[in-house]
Amino acid sequence: MIRREQSELAFTQAQQVFPGGVNSPVRAFKAVGGTPVFIDSAKGAYLYDVDGNAYIDYVLSWGPMILGHANDQVVSAVQKSLYKGTSYGAPSPLETKLGKLLQERIPQLEKIRMVNSGTEATMSAIRLARGVTGRDKIIKFIGCYHGHSDSFLVQAGSGVATFGLPNSPGVTQGTAQDTLTLPYNDIDSLRACFDKEGSNIAGVIIEAVAGNMGLIKAEQGFIDEIRHLTKMYGSLFIVDEVMTGFRVNYTGAVGLYNLDADLICFGKVVGGGFPMALFGGKKKYMDIVTPSGTVYQAGTLSGNPIAMVAGYETVKNLTPSVFDKMTRLTDRLCEGLKKVALEHNVPLQVVHVGTMFSFFFNNKSVRNFEDSKASDQERFAQVYRTLLEKGIYLAPSQYESNFMSAAHTETEIDKTITAFDQVLGEIYG
Ligand SMILES: *Cc1c(COP(=O)(O)O)cnc(C)c1O
Repeated sequence: MIRREQSELAFTQAQQVFPGGVNSPVRAFKAVGGTPVFIDSAKGAYLYDVDGNAYIDYVLSWGPMILGHANDQVVSAVQKSLYKGTSYGAPSPLETKLGKLLQERIPQLEKIRMVNSGTEATMSAIRLARGVTGRDKIIKFIGCYHGHSDSFLVQAGSGVATFGLPNSPGVTQGTAQDTLTLPYNDIDSLRACFDKEGSNIAGVIIEAVAGNMGLIKAEQGFIDEIRHLTKMYGSLFIVDEVMTGFRVNYTGAVGLYNLDADLICFGKVVGGGFPMALFGGKKKYMDIVTPSGTVYQAGTLSGNPIAMVAGYETVKNLTPSVFDKMTRLTDRLCEGLKKVALEHNVPLQVVHVGTMFSFFFNNKSVRNFEDSKASDQERFAQVYRTLLEKGIYLAPSQYESNFMSAAHTETEIDKTITAFDQVLGEIYG
């Protein structure tokens, strides 16, 4: 047993200050049990806790640290930038520099608005969709998570699913009524909904690769039908790439599926570990945002210079060859986990797309939230805790995705596979 006394002490103290001892719910480890690991520092592929234990990190701050923790280039660019001031509240060329780089990678970002979190990006995108169409209703899919603004806390995945909440108290009925929820990958219910409500629907928002109910890919036919129906009914097609952007593919989910999206939301990776996100898309819609248009959107720290620099260094250093290396390592890890599970006769579904992966203790493939929920979560929790003891830090809920970084190497991958083999051996013989 590794010692975690300092983490336990830190958790006790944090519980006196924060609800549940944390500032974001899944961090409390409720789904897997035990004490959350309190972090002292992080470098490369590793987290170091307050007791001095090292962990191979597959959470990577829930995705952003794609170059690895404390990447030298990012740190040195941020250091230089700090001395030039940390917030201006006025425009700076750094915003345009990052914006242009993002446009080169994702040409569909004809115009962009920088914001501070994924929650803000999706919230602003649906406001824009409502403003453009003059309609109230949006469609989201069950198990997809789009941040914690009211409209999205209806049948949301991620933390909301981890805590078994259908939706959150505090969301008014009026707001909940305007959010229509449909099962993921279900073309028939999508058609039926448009048949009935089409002329009231401002937009459809989706994680084209869902990462907040475990990792689940949208089927191409399903995605194509969303595009077809939204065009037919004059609704906006909004792709939430806060997690998938620069992760499932070099050009994100819009590149992976060749999507003609109206609006796209990015976050996590684009901020390089700082609070930064954005929404963007077709110029004809984005120009309706204030001040060029009338749909209000603003932010004191939006376009923050430090976040711009960190985002720029991160995306710039994320070259196709770096991306390929991460994809290969993700494949290697997932193939290894599958093989080990097979040897131990443990039913396991391993899903991976680009640099993201997750696994379900389930004997059939997982297509939607219902399937995900039906997986053996007790087994997940037990395996999770035992892997943690061996220095493997995965996302502490089956409903979350795991991530690869450019700092991981075959050494970490093979250690992880070996640990998984030992864990299944210890638990199942
Ligand atoms: C993380 C996430 C969000 C919310 O982003 P925050 O920065 O946590 O507000 C929105 N959508 C998706 C798909 C996410 O994964």
